Amino acid sequence: MYIGRTNQKVMTYTRPQVTKVTVTLPKAHHPLEDILSKPAVRKALLWMTRRGPDGKCFLERLCENYDNPNADFWTRLKWYWSNKAIDLALKRAGLDKETMKKHLFHHTPTVKSLALTAKSIGTYGLTVPQRFTAPLFVVWNITQVCNLSCKHCYQDAKHKPMPDELTTEEKLDLLDQMADEYVPFVAFAGGEPLVAKDLWPVLEHCKKRGFHVTIATNGMLLTPEMCARLKEVGVKYIEVSIDSINPEEHDEFRGLKGAWERSIQGIRNSVAAGIRTGMATCFTRETVHTVDDVVKFAIDLGCSTFAHFNFIPVGRGREIMHHDLTPGQRELLMRKLQRHLAEGKISIISTAPQFGRSCIIYGSEEGVFATGHAGKGEGKKTLVLSRYIGGCGAGRCYCSIQPNGIINACVYIPSEEVGDIRRQSFKEIWENALFSVLSDREDRGDHCGVCDYRHYCGGCRARSLAYTGDIQAGDPGCVYNAHEWVELTAGADSVMATHFAMPGGFSLSAGCGNGCGTSAETPLVQLKGLRHHAEQLAQIVTSGVVQAAVRAGEISNVPEEDVRDFDEVVDRLSSLFAKN
Ligand code: SF4
Ligand code: SF4
Repeated sequence: MYIGRTNQKVMTYTRPQVTKVTVTLPKAHHPLEDILSKPAVRKALLWMTRRGPDGKCFLERLCENYDNPNADFWTRLKWYWSNKAIDLALKRAGLDKETMKKHLFHHTPTVKSLALTAKSIGTYGLTVPQRFTAPLFVVWNITQVCNLSCKHCYQDAKHKPMPDELTTEEKLDLLDQMADEYVPFVAFAGGEPLVAKDLWPVLEHCKKRGFHVTIATNGMLLTPEMCARLKEVGVKYIEVSIDSINPEEHDEFRGLKGAWERSIQGIRNSVAAGIRTGMATCFTRETVHTVDDVVKFAIDLGCSTFAHFNFIPVGRGREIMHHDLTPGQRELLMRKLQRHLAEGKISIISTAPQFGRSCIIYGSEEGVFATGHAGKGEGKKTLVLSRYIGGCGAGRCYCSIQPNGIINACVYIPSEEVGDIRRQSFKEIWENALFSVLSDREDRGDHCGVCDYRHYCGGCRARSLAYTGDIQAGDPGCVYNAHEWVELTAGADSVMATHFAMPGGFSLSAGCGNGCGTSAETPLVQLKGLRHHAEQLAQIVTSGVVQAAVRAGEISNVPEEDVRDFDEVVDRLSSLFAKN
C-alpha cells in the first residue's frame, strides 16, 4: 500500500490470487550483465559519473575528447591513450569509427543516456527492471491552452491557460535542473505546445543544454514556416494525432470541422521540412478494425513512425470509457502492430506496455523488439535490454510535468501529484515513495503479479488506477487479466458506485451513444444501460477470450486458429454493440 503526499491512502484494492498462465521464458543473457553486477564496477560507474568543477563528468569528457578535431594540442595529448584504447575496442567489436562518433561519442543525448544509466547502475545496482536516478524521458505538458477541444483529451485542456502556469524563467531553470541530472529526452505536449507563448526560448534552451526534443501536436499549426523554424531550433521528431482516416470521424472527435485537413497538411509540411514525423492514433472499439488501413495511410504520408496511443479513461476520456477496447481487441491490435513492426515499412511504437510482450510472443527470436514506449531494436541483445528498460516506465525511467510545475508519474496519472517544482528540486521530487513502488514489479495484483512477461511489460499503471483505484492492480486491458475485465464490467454498477467517491473514477455525465443513457438520464438509468452491455460483454468474454487467453499461455506458438478466436469474439462484440 502506498500513502500519498497528502497522506491519502491510494491503494485499497484486495489482490486476488491468480493462477499463472504464461510460460517461463528461456532466459536471454548477455556477458555484460555479469560485469555490471560486480561491486567494483558499480563503484567505478559512480566515479565516472560524478561531476567535476567544470560541471562535466569523466564519461562526458571522455566522449567529447574522443577524436575531437577542435581540441587544442594539450587536450589531445592528455586524452591520447584513452583515444587509442577506444579505437582498439571499436576495431575488435567490428564497429565503424565514424558512425560511432556521430551516433554515440559526439551525440549529446546518447552520452547523457549513457551517463544516466551508468549512474543509476552505480547507485541502485543492475536491477530488473532498471531503476533510474532521473528519468530517461520526460513528457512536459507545457501549457494547458489548446486550439481544439477533443473528446478524449487526458489533460482536459481548455482555450485558456491555467492561472498558475510556470513562467519562462521557471521553465528554463527546470530545464537546467533536468540537464544536471543527465535527462536526455524531452517531449513537449499540452494542451497544444505550439501555442505556448514561450515555446521558442524554451526550445533554444533545450538546444543549448543538449536535449533530444520531440513535439506532440494536433498538427493544426504546422505551416511550412513553423516546420522550418522547428527544424532550425533542433526539434528531432514531430508526432501528430489523427483519430481516424475518415475526416468526419476525426473532426467529430476533435470538435472542429476541417481539423483533419489541416492536421494532415501539417504532417505533409513536417515531412517536407525533413523532420522525422509520426502519426499517432488512439483506437476505440469502433475504429480498431481500421488499424491496417491507418498504418498504410501513415506510410503513404511519408511518416517514419506510427504511434498507437492506448486508451486510458482519465480527463475527458472518462466520459467515453465505454469505447475502450476489450482485452481481446487489444490483443489482436498488438498482434497486428507487431506484424507491421516486423514488416519494417514504418517504425511502430505503442503506449500499451503489452506491445513489448507481443513482440516476444509473436515475433521471431532474432526479430524486432520494442524497448519501452518509444524504442526498438533487433536480436537477442535487444531482448536482454528490454528486460531492464521495457514496458511501463512511469515513475521509473519516465515522468511528466504539468503546466504549473506539478510532477506526475505519467501524463495519464494526473491524480497522483508527487511533487511541485516550486517547492522542491527536480532531484528531490524524483526520490519519492510512489516512484519506489512503481519501480518494483514484484508486488502487483492479478496476473501482472505472476506474469512471466512482467519485466517486458508490467501492465499500464494508469489503466489499473483508473479502473480499480489501485495503482498496483492488474492491467484490466490485458488478455491475461480477462477475469478482471469480466469482474469490472459484469459488476458495472457496484464498481461504478465505488468510483463515484474515488479520484480518477468514472464519470457518468455523458451518454455513450449505444443506448447506455444520455446526460439527461439519471445515473441509475445510465448504470442499468451500462450493466446491460456489461453482462453481454461478460458472456462473450467468458465464452471466447478467456479460453483463448488461457491457451495464449503458450502463445509463442499460437496457431492462426486461436487468433481467429479473438477475431470472432471481436466480430460478435462489434455486431452486438452495433445492434444496441
Ligand atoms: S499486462 Fe500484466 S498480465 Fe498482461 S502481459 Fe503485461 S505483465 Fe503480463
Ligand atoms: S502508466 Fe505506464 S504504460 Fe501506462 S501510459 Fe503511463 S508510462 Fe505508459
